[in-house]
Amino acid sequence: MTTAIEQTVETYGIENWGAGYFDVNRKGNLIVHPVENDSRAADLKEIIDDLRRRGITTPVLLRFPQLIAGQVRKLQRAFSKSIREFEYQGAHMCVYPMKVNQQRAVIEEYLREGTRYDFGLEAGSKAELYAALAMDQSSDSLLVLNGFKDEEFIKLAFIGAKAGKRIVIVIEKLSELDHILRISEDYEGALPMVGMRVKLYSKGSGRWEKSGGEAAKFGLTTTEILEVIGRMREADRIDMLKLLHFHIGSQLTDIKRIKNAMKEAARVYAKVRQMKVPIDLLDVGGGMAVDYDGSKTAFDSSANYTAQEFANDVIYTIKTVCDDENVPHPTIIQESGRYLAAYHAIIVTNVVDEIETVVEDISPMEIEDDDPQVVVELGDLRETISVKNYREYYHDALEHREELFTLFNLGLISLEDRAKGEVLFWDVCERADKYAQAAKYISEEFDDLRRLLCAKYLTNFSVFRSVPDHWALDQLFPIVPIHGLNKQPTEYATLCDITCDSDGIVDKFVDLHDVKQVLELHKLTPGEPYYLAFMLVGAYQEVMGNNHNLFGTPNEAHIWIDEEGYLIRKVIRGTTVGQAAERARYERGLLHDGFRRQVAQRVKDEELSEAEAAEIIDYYESRYDAYTYLAVNGDEGRGKRRRE
Ligand SMILES: *Cc1c(COP(=O)(O)O)cnc(C)c1O
Repeated sequence: MTTAIEQTVETYGIENWGAGYFDVNRKGNLIVHPVENDSRAADLKEIIDDLRRRGITTPVLLRFPQLIAGQVRKLQRAFSKSIREFEYQGAHMCVYPMKVNQQRAVIEEYLREGTRYDFGLEAGSKAELYAALAMDQSSDSLLVLNGFKDEEFIKLAFIGAKAGKRIVIVIEKLSELDHILRISEDYEGALPMVGMRVKLYSKGSGRWEKSGGEAAKFGLTTTEILEVIGRMREADRIDMLKLLHFHIGSQLTDIKRIKNAMKEAARVYAKVRQMKVPIDLLDVGGGMAVDYDGSKTAFDSSANYTAQEFANDVIYTIKTVCDDENVPHPTIIQESGRYLAAYHAIIVTNVVDEIETVVEDISPMEIEDDDPQVVVELGDLRETISVKNYREYYHDALEHREELFTLFNLGLISLEDRAKGEVLFWDVCERADKYAQAAKYISEEFDDLRRLLCAKYLTNFSVFRSVPDHWALDQLFPIVPIHGLNKQPTEYATLCDITCDSDGIVDKFVDLHDVKQVLELHKLTPGEPYYLAFMLVGAYQEVMGNNHNLFGTPNEAHIWIDEEGYLIRKVIRGTTVGQAAERARYERGLLHDGFRRQVAQRVKDEELSEAEAAEIIDYYESRYDAYTYLAVNGDEGRGKRRRE
């Protein structure tokens, strides 16, 4: 017998995408384990209640640093296991690409765990390098520099080498080599290493397919590679050339494509090595995918391999090619970002309300004899619709609705008639939907109807700030209520955010076999908060999130999980209203002066008393410190709103 909790775990697919970190406790609350299926667990509902008592309201970004460490360990173990199994002679090291999530809390936690395995960092811009240079890394770990570089960038890299970092400048463009050779001419001290990014013929799969292949934005062609080698030899700097790099894209969904790229890259490595170039590092880039929907397929939001399979294929392929070419096995550098960062962050927020889109009857509706014919006919449909005729009647209702609007636009029926007709139309739809859902085969038009009829939950967040890839790339993120999971959800809903943008919606949800158009959720109870968690948002979402409508960064809490439950180690307040305005160059002083000036004029015109003026100025200026999101205070703002 399956319990209600087991059923909801299945409904939301928690076991499929949760990687052993997430589960539901006996209270029906969503919990987080610091390590897969550990006995220690943090109850998300308790954390949110606790934060609320401290005045920290939703939306809240919860950061679980232990999950970053957990992913680092998983990756390291997978590779060390394959290295042993295939008797690979080289080592494996990771460099975390900062662009995935540069937050200091993330980098520090990654390095804290990663230092044990000589995991380092990857920076792709001057600002990332500037931040990275001050971080403590283990002395053997690398700091790899990708991206387009000017002379200033390269100068900073040389400075870093002098400061003791093991830096690799990866050449993306030949002009970078000019800078490197010039700076190294009259340079004394520890030199950085140099790498070459190669343009592979092989492509990845999934959304970032364009990152690989001949037309890719990055990387050197074969002739350019030979030119770099030639020129470095000529300048007597060939000893600096230590690394070969490629990266065929993020969220690589298909293991076959990865294997092909590894084969090609290993062959290039071997050929370069045979030219007596002292390279011994092969950087295989990032791209290890996160199975967001848990389907274990080559679908865009999934991956058809595990970390172990990925490691096995990388190690085995490179070993085979190197043995064949008779060159030593290189140390494998990996730049996995998404895989390490995605799990650790969760956005929790509250559903504010339900937005009504379907017209519902407010008072019991009577059809009168003198009602227009079209209203009477819709009334008939409503009374006589059945399992046998629902398809036909639904089509009739669609026609009658057209007629209703035509008559209204011609001025032939009243506003009251139109309202009556609309209510009847939606009644017929709801009944047709019930029959359709009970049928064995549901045709597409009734799927569309279901989407139209489903509830729209107004959710206190901005899609553009918190899950921008859902908006920009249709990427799926698992979404789960954090409480009430001991009860089966009874509603179907899509989510609307609080921005004034019709794109600010979530209407695609993870599913094992397909993409769900609606999400199963519980009925809202007036006066009781309903909290949803957006899971696996630790990679890219924070950095890519934008200021649409001036919604700022959410409140943030860092959670440590121990035997007793959880510890809130740090709370960081989100952007305030004043700070958000300042991002658009509305400085505080300027705004407060401007407001005071207008109020002073009103006092002068005797429209306001001095006391009233003082009061509104006080209130206005106090708003500087307010949260940019909707305040959560009990019942306020509840009750159904209508929209059409
Ligand atoms: C973005 C990027 C990565 C990270 O890729 P993930 O898919 O997050 O692992 C690694 N290397 C380079 C060069 C990148 O541009």
